[in-house]
Amino acid sequence: MKIDDIKKICVVGAGNMGHQISMLAAICGYQVSCVDVSEEQLNKARDFAKTYLPGRVAKGKMSEEEAKAAGARLSFTTDMKEALADTDFVIEAATEKLELKRQIFKELDRLSPPHAVLATNSSFFVSSMVADVTSRPDKVCNMHFFNPALVMKCVEVVQGPYTSEQTTELTMELSRRLKKEPVKLNKEIYGFLVNRILSAINNEALYLLDTGVASAEDIDKAVVNALGHPLGPFRLQDLTGIDLSYHIMMERYNETGDPADKPSPTIVEKYVKGEWGQKTGKGFYDYSNDKA
Ligand code: NAD
Repeated sequence: MKIDDIKKICVVGAGNMGHQISMLAAICGYQVSCVDVSEEQLNKARDFAKTYLPGRVAKGKMSEEEAKAAGARLSFTTDMKEALADTDFVIEAATEKLELKRQIFKELDRLSPPHAVLATNSSFFVSSMVADVTSRPDKVCNMHFFNPALVMKCVEVVQGPYTSEQTTELTMELSRRLKKEPVKLNKEIYGFLVNRILSAINNEALYLLDTGVASAEDIDKAVVNALGHPLGPFRLQDLTGIDLSYHIMMERYNETGDPADKPSPTIVEKYVKGEWGQKTGKGFYDYSNDKA
């Protein structure tokens, strides 16, 4: 398959990442089918489209015709078979649980056209962990977007041990067509590039918080003002979801058994209390008065 043969993209999952990746692809001219098991999540994604596109027009970022056309290219469904019909490229952005992703990839392989590439947006699972359940491991790779996917320019494309060079190059080129700046990883490594660096920062920030060296606010302030990061580690975790941090650390800990991979007491406490960040109204910061 050549880059110009990609006409339809299926995005699996309409959550934090999926709804934005779907919107991005529709704006960039692709037919997009976004599929989720949750009608509630799909409704949120539909509502987002209803406000985001007119907002772009109001800001002069696109014409009314362009917004209308992008909206018309975007569809939402709970029916996997319908979503995958005629799909050329799949971006899986479902919940970060390995067994779930393996089940989903089995379904994707069964229901997608044989030429379709199956990419995973997983933050930590390398594609070889799902490629083996498919009959097309050469067409499976990692395509890792960053949050918010409509804004962040970086996409990590990972060449797994079974991924063909052609699939990697196609995914790099598709990322460019989605107006991103892709980076290529020549081999699989846990956490890819960015999350390895981020994990090191987060672990140190949590250590400083848990040992009472400084408050979350001051640690964030230092990272923003001294290192020039747009957000400190605690604000960022509130945005990406403390539940996600918890699941990622638990999966890793269950895999390695290394106590260093265990979620910190603060993360466990926030996870148990349901203080998962912006999505629940409270995380390291309080968003209960936030209307956004
Ligand atoms: P999320 O919890 O916001 O959304 C996940 C969605 O998957 C939910 O809407 C859920 O209903 C849906 N889902 C669950 N099972 C499904 C199935 N069988 N079929 C279809 N949909 C299903 O999670 P998220 O933050 O959007 O993360 C999604 C993926 O993107 C994860 O793999 C995560 O590691 C990765 N990721 C997340 C971020 C981030 O900052 N949140 C950044 C980069 C990558």
